[in-house]
Amino acid sequence: MRHIAIIGSGPAGYYAAEAAQKKFGDGIRVDIFDRLPVPFGLIRTGVAPDHQSIKGVSRRYEKTALSDNVRFVGNVTVGEDIAMDELRELYDAVILATGAPQDRELGIAGEDLANVFGSAAFVGWYNGHPQFAGLSPDLSGKTAVIVGMGNVALDVARMLSKKDREFDGSDIVDHALDALCESAIERIVLLGRRGPHQISMTPKELGEMGELAHAAPFVSPDDLPAVEEDALLDPGLRKSVALLRKFAALPDRARADKPITVEFAFFAQPTAFIGDARVEAVEIERTKLVDGRAVATGETQRLPADLVVSCIGYRTAPIPGVPFDESAGRFANDSGRILPGLYCVGWAMRGPSGTIGTNKPDGFAIIDKIAEDIETGTLGDDDKPGRAGFDAYAAENGLDVVTFKDWKKIEEAEEAAAREGSPREKFVDIEAMIRAVN
Ligand code: NAP
Repeated sequence: MRHIAIIGSGPAGYYAAEAAQKKFGDGIRVDIFDRLPVPFGLIRTGVAPDHQSIKGVSRRYEKTALSDNVRFVGNVTVGEDIAMDELRELYDAVILATGAPQDRELGIAGEDLANVFGSAAFVGWYNGHPQFAGLSPDLSGKTAVIVGMGNVALDVARMLSKKDREFDGSDIVDHALDALCESAIERIVLLGRRGPHQISMTPKELGEMGELAHAAPFVSPDDLPAVEEDALLDPGLRKSVALLRKFAALPDRARADKPITVEFAFFAQPTAFIGDARVEAVEIERTKLVDGRAVATGETQRLPADLVVSCIGYRTAPIPGVPFDESAGRFANDSGRILPGLYCVGWAMRGPSGTIGTNKPDGFAIIDKIAEDIETGTLGDDDKPGRAGFDAYAAENGLDVVTFKDWKKIEEAEEAAAREGSPREKFVDIEAMIRAVN
């Protein structure tokens, strides 16, 4: 029998567990650890609350979770409740599927001003992540500036644009629903340091910006490259750029009855956030494209800003004792191998890119590597204690482990508390989750 510990119960973790089952059948036991008492990582706290169809993939993970050779070990923080070295003593292989939960910083003046947030914090706030539920962004101002031209920037812009019935069917948490419905924001500016041909927005997500009840997009025709150049783009990006062209062609009357405008500002990078205690403006430098890179032109302007959300990507959280690549912001690894018996997968391996589905081949690839390492003897004999060893450790150290059965009680309580039409009302603090178990 071989024992695998997977750290992180998001898509990367569950696809790796599914792959392990398929590869080793009954010859494997998998424990999936999570620092939260609830599973599914980014599916629960990253995917936008109004994208329920994407969240539906958790049903596939549940199938894996409910099988005999896989179990969920929630409410255990590796590196705090148990050291990485101790865990590696217990299991043949440890796979870090911890994602990239920390915000990358812009590294410019004023980033610590009040009402300037990174997307991990802001998205965590409206998705009820216990770490960020208390964020309390001030939405009483008129202008929000969002840095970045990726799908997370779109998620944040869409959430700031929606009101009332537009949240029907979503699982946005109550505190965020109230704040967003009362928000005074009427101008949302997305800042892209490069041009329309360099956006990272996918067509489906960008298209949603043209279908909002209270907001309309604005793109300046002057920013668009010659239409013939679109032919050189790959098909997905070409579709996104076609949407930008459609937005640029919208007549003023299309915006007349929409109180919120979402402006796409290209060739503009923030150089400082300005304000006394709270942010009041963003200093922006105009850029130009040189060999595909944004190069500053020295031309600056100030844009008023009452709220800033920086959506420029994420970093993996380092774990003591695990080699880390500081510049890439993820574990130092060779196609998922970190050290003998220690692996990583998903965003913790390759950085924050790709869709949820990208994690599936990743999960299968890492299990193939583990199989190879068993074959070559790198992982030693099959004499590790695995589950039994961890259970003894947990009992000795008084760990309050949350099982998948416990999670189902939390889920049941969340579903019972849902407002009409919503799938659930999430608990936003760990104590409340534990109370629901007991
Ligand atoms: P992303 O796609 O990498 O976009 C990051 C954006 O930030 C880019 O426009 C980038 O511009 C910009 N940026 C980076 N550093 C910057 C800096 N120093 N100054 C100014 N701008 C900067 O990242 P993301 O939006 O966080 O998304 C992460 C992944 O999750 C992506 O693969 C995304 O598709 C996926 N996702 C998918 C969905 C969905 O499918 N519905 C939803 C959310 C997220 P440059 O291009 O110039 O670097």
